[in-house]
Amino acid sequence: MPRPSRSTLAGVLVALWAGLGMADTAAAEPPIRVGVLAYRGGDHANAAWEPTVRYLAERFPDRGAEMVPLDLPGMDAAVRDRTLDFVLTNTGNYVELEARYGVTRVATLHSSRAGASGASIGSTIIVRAERTDIRDLADIKGRTVLAGDPDAFGGFQIAWGEMLKAGVDPYRDLKELRFSGFPVDRVAFAVRDGTADAGVLRACLLEELAAEGRLDPARFRVLAPKTMPGFDCAVSTDLYPDWPLARLASTPEDLAKAVVVALFEMPADHPAAKAAGYEGWTVPLDYQSVHALFRSLRIGPYRHLREVSLVELAREHWEWLAVGVLALLWWAIHSLRVEHLIKVRTAELRTANRDLVHEMAERRRAQEDARERQKEMDHVARLSILGEMASNLAHELNQPLGAIANYARGCTRRLEAGTGNPDQLLEVTRAIAEQADRAGQIIARIRNFVRKRPSQLEPIDVNDAIRAAVALCEGQARNGNVPIVLSLAGDLPPVPADRVQIEQVVLNLVKNALDAMAETVPGAAEDAGRKVTVSSARDGEGRVEVAVADHGHGLSEEARSRLFDPYFTTKAGGMGLGLSICRSIVETHGGHLRATDNPGGGVVMRFVLPVANGALPSGEEQQHHG
Ligand code: ADP
Repeated sequence: MPRPSRSTLAGVLVALWAGLGMADTAAAEPPIRVGVLAYRGGDHANAAWEPTVRYLAERFPDRGAEMVPLDLPGMDAAVRDRTLDFVLTNTGNYVELEARYGVTRVATLHSSRAGASGASIGSTIIVRAERTDIRDLADIKGRTVLAGDPDAFGGFQIAWGEMLKAGVDPYRDLKELRFSGFPVDRVAFAVRDGTADAGVLRACLLEELAAEGRLDPARFRVLAPKTMPGFDCAVSTDLYPDWPLARLASTPEDLAKAVVVALFEMPADHPAAKAAGYEGWTVPLDYQSVHALFRSLRIGPYRHLREVSLVELAREHWEWLAVGVLALLWWAIHSLRVEHLIKVRTAELRTANRDLVHEMAERRRAQEDARERQKEMDHVARLSILGEMASNLAHELNQPLGAIANYARGCTRRLEAGTGNPDQLLEVTRAIAEQADRAGQIIARIRNFVRKRPSQLEPIDVNDAIRAAVALCEGQARNGNVPIVLSLAGDLPPVPADRVQIEQVVLNLVKNALDAMAETVPGAAEDAGRKVTVSSARDGEGRVEVAVADHGHGLSEEARSRLFDPYFTTKAGGMGLGLSICRSIVETHGGHLRATDNPGGGVVMRFVLPVANGALPSGEEQQHHG
C-alpha cells in the first residue's frame, strides 16, 4: 500500500484548512433571504420572482441570495421570527407588516403604466355601455355588483373605499355583492353578459383583456372615470403604490443600501423584470394613502377598529348616550319609588281592608240586633194596640155571634112548632153561615195582624191595607159614633212594602183619630164634620200618599213638638209608642210621615211611599227603625 508523500499530506492539510476557512466565511455571511408572497402558489412565485432573486445573488456573489416563497400566515411568522432579510409582498400585506413589525420599504416596483406619481394600482368600476340608468357611483345602490376577491387590493378594496366616498356601503346598500374568485377576468364577462349590473376590476385589466382580443372595450363604460397624469388606463379611483421591497428592522443598513443600489441598477429590459412583468425599481413610494384607505375600511392593520366601533359610536353621540343614561337612571329610580309606594300602599290597604271587614261584620251584627228588636217592638205595638181595642173588637165579634144565636133560636122555635118549611129554614141557615163567616173574618184579621213574622217587601195595593186596617176599627168607630169615610184612588201603582206593617200604620193613625174625636162632644155639627176620612192618592211626584183626617181636639203645642217621641202620650192607658213606630216603618219604606192641622179643626196625618219603579229603600235604610 503506497504511503502518502509529505507534500501530498501538506496539500491535504492546506486544503482542509482552506475548506474550514471557507466554511467559516460562509457561516459569517449567510445568503440574503428574500421572503416572497406566493399568493397564487409557490410555483407561480418561483416563476415570477426567482429571476429577480437570482439577479441579487449574482450581484452579491460572496453571500448569494435565497428566495423563500411564503403564504400570508407564513410571511407573518417569518417576519415575526426575523428569519428573513427582505420581503417582497403586495401593497396590502406590506402595510400590515409595517404596522405590526416595523418593516420598511426600500424600493417600489416600477410598472410601465405608472402615473406621474409612480403609483400604478387602482380600480376600474365598469357597467355595460348601454346602461343609462347607472350614470354615477351612487346609482349602484340596490344593484348587483361583482368583484374579484374581498382581499384583492385593486380588484376590490380600492373601489370599496371609493364607493364609501360616494355614499354607498357595498356590504349594506347593494342588492348583492358577489366575488368571482380567480381568474378575475370573469368579472368583465359577467358584466358584459348582464349577470351583474356593475363590476370591479384592477385598473388596466380591461385594457389588457382588450389587447389580448378577448373583449371589446367599447361595450363597457367606466363609472366615475378619473384622469391621472401619465396613467393611460381607465380608472375610477385614486392610484396607490405597487409592490414594495421592504427590509426588516433587523436587517443591517449597509446591506439594505447595497441591495437597493443593485435593484436600481437593473436595466429595464432585464429578463428578471420581464419575468415578473415590471420595468424596474424606483424610490420607495409613500404608503400613507394605503394606510388611510385601510383605516377608512377598517381592514388590515386597522381591523381592530371594527371592534371598538361601539366605543367610537359612543364618543360620537355622547350627548344622546348621556340623555339615554339619564333617562334610564330616572326610569330606574322612578320604578323603584313606584314599587316602594305600591308596597306601602298595599300594606295600608290590607290593614284598612281588615278593619273594614271587621267593622262590616260588627255593623251587620248590630243591624241584625236592631232588626230583631224592631220586630219585637212592632209585634208588641200591634199586640198593645189590639189590647187597647179589645173591648171594641169583642163588641164587633158579638154582633155576628148574637145574630147567629138569634137565627138559631128562631129556627129551633119553628122546628118545635112544626111551622118551619124547608125553604124558610134554608134561608135562616144561610144567614147563620154568613154571620159565622163574618165572625171568622174578624178573627182571621186579628190573627193575621198579631202574628209574629219577619218583615217582607212585596208589591202591594195600599188600598187593600187601608181597608183591612179600617175593618179592625169599625167596632170602635160605631161605638164612638164616628163614621170612617174612605176616599181611595182607583189607579194606585203597586208599592213595594210589608203589607202588615202598612196596615199597622193606618190602624194606628185611624185609632188615634177616633181617640181624638172620642172626647169631642157630638154637637150640632154631628153631621158633616164628625167623621174620619181616610184617603189615598198619587202625589205630585208619582208616589202614593195616604191621609187620615179627623176633626178631633187637635194638637197642643207640646204634642206638636213631641208627637213622634217614644213614650209621649196624653192618654190614660196610652204607651206613646204608636207614632214613633209608625214613622220608623214609613221611613224604612223610603217614605215619610207628617202631621198637619186640619183646616176644619183636628189633625191630618199624612204619609207617602215611593212606588216600585222609584228608588227602593236600600237594605241599610231599612234597618234604621226608631
Ligand atoms: P198613644 O196613642 O199610645 O198615646 P201615639 O204615639 O200613637 O201613642 O200618640 C202620641 C200622642 O200624640 C197621643 O197621646 C196624642 O196626644 C197625640 N196624638 C196622636 N194622634 C193625634 C190626633 N189625631 N189628634 C190629636 N192628638 C193626637
